[in-house]
Amino acid sequence: MTRQAPMKYTWTNWSKLQRATPAKVETPWTSTQLQRAVREAIAQGSRMKAIGAGHSFTGIAVADDIQLDLSRYTGMVALDPVRRQVTLRAGTRLWQIPQLLADTGLALQNLGDINRQSIAGAISTSTHGTGLTFGGLASQVVGCELITGTGEVLTVSQDHHPELLDALRVTLGAFGILTTVTLQLVPAYDMHTVERHAELDWVLEHWDDLNTDHDHFEFFWFGHDREVITKASTRLPVSHTRPTRMARLRERAVDEVVMNMTLAGICQLGRVKPGWVPHLNRLATLGWGSSTRRAHWSTAFTSDRRVRFNEMEYALPFAAIPEVLAELRQLYRRGEISSTYPMEVRSAAADTAWLATNHGRRTGYIAVHQHFSQDHRQYFARIEPIFRAAGGRPHWGKLHSLTAQELATLYPCWDHALALRDELDPNRVFANAYLTRVFGT
Ligand SMILES: Cc1cc2nc3c(=O)[nH]c(=O)nc-3n(C[C@H](O)[C@H](O)[C@H](O)COP(=O)(O)OP(=O)(O)OC[C@H]3O[C@@H](n4cnc5c(N)ncnc54)[C@H](O)[C@@H]3O)c2cc1C
Repeated sequence: MTRQAPMKYTWTNWSKLQRATPAKVETPWTSTQLQRAVREAIAQGSRMKAIGAGHSFTGIAVADDIQLDLSRYTGMVALDPVRRQVTLRAGTRLWQIPQLLADTGLALQNLGDINRQSIAGAISTSTHGTGLTFGGLASQVVGCELITGTGEVLTVSQDHHPELLDALRVTLGAFGILTTVTLQLVPAYDMHTVERHAELDWVLEHWDDLNTDHDHFEFFWFGHDREVITKASTRLPVSHTRPTRMARLRERAVDEVVMNMTLAGICQLGRVKPGWVPHLNRLATLGWGSSTRRAHWSTAFTSDRRVRFNEMEYALPFAAIPEVLAELRQLYRRGEISSTYPMEVRSAAADTAWLATNHGRRTGYIAVHQHFSQDHRQYFARIEPIFRAAGGRPHWGKLHSLTAQELATLYPCWDHALALRDELDPNRVFANAYLTRVFGT
């Protein structure tokens, strides 16, 4: 389970923006191996960083010294059907969870756009989907086990140290290595989803109603266009009539053509012909089309994202979304910003986790993307001050420029979080450059 990293081993994240050349890679299969690996790192005075699926855009998972690869530390540890709770090994990928729950009649409460992430990686960065009465993945956490920077095993649940749950549900990987995560499940459900075109102005005018009228609402906007694509979903009891294999294949083919092939073509064309981007935005919106579908929760939320991009996303006060988007539209109209990739606008309920991006307030999220082959820096730098002026908090796994000084003003429990980190990882075993920047120590 331990391997000296081969001479040329270079790890990259999904978007290939972040790189690491760790001296050693640990790939534990068992909890004994995992605990031994962490304790050895502590004893040697080395730094260790766990990686999940490497789907963060920031350098949050960069391991300089020892990389702890949890891709083999997966699966279910326990299921409590009475409390409807499941305990998973930290490396379990989100796509594995529906299979693990297949015969239980239980489901995750909410999911984001994709399911490639590990459960520990997803909760550590406050990964979220959409829905004004739902939190992100971390909101579903009711317990976890953590190996701290002093080598102790800390178990937190509704029965043990419940006061630490809010501190440990979102940690950026800085407080210890999560070994297990316990999630609160709900009865399985279907989703009825309608995607359609709408005028941006109309959506902004009805932003509040659209989010309260549907269980899950979001929209995609190619910034030069006056229309957006809305996606509204309603939760329903599980139907025993399933779509035929043919219907499922057709849906996947449409997704593949729209989300991946067309977008890839448009991004490539926009790179060589920047003047065409407004027309390409229009084409992309039209090509998206409208659709209505009913699907089991396990397939309803996520899709495959194969067009590589870089991303910045901010969590804003829910009510600020229309005004902020109106400002972005001005920048687009004046030709100050441009992208062939759509923005994504979502919502979430408030959470009590100290470092959750939706801490203490109903939240609206705006994500902006740039194709990986194009320089994202100017685009993000022009938009970020607008997000910041509206009181935005950056997604921990997505690109941003903030440092500890600015972040401290955005999180009411910031000082408590720093103090707990000092206690749990006094020697900064789990630190890296990104964490030192955002925590300032
Ligand atoms: C195509 C794409 C789509 C995305 N869609 C969404 C979306 O819809 N919503 C959203 O909010 N985000 C989204 N993201 C961002 C993504 O969900 C987060 O960055 C998430 O953290 C990635 O999970 P991961 O398993 O890859 O973690 P990694 O990026 O590998 O790691 C993230 C952090 O978790 C830590 N970590 C991992 N395992 C452990 C452990 N066992 N113990 C302690 N710390 C640990 C790492 O050290 C690191 O600090 C998307 C990213 C991509 C590339």
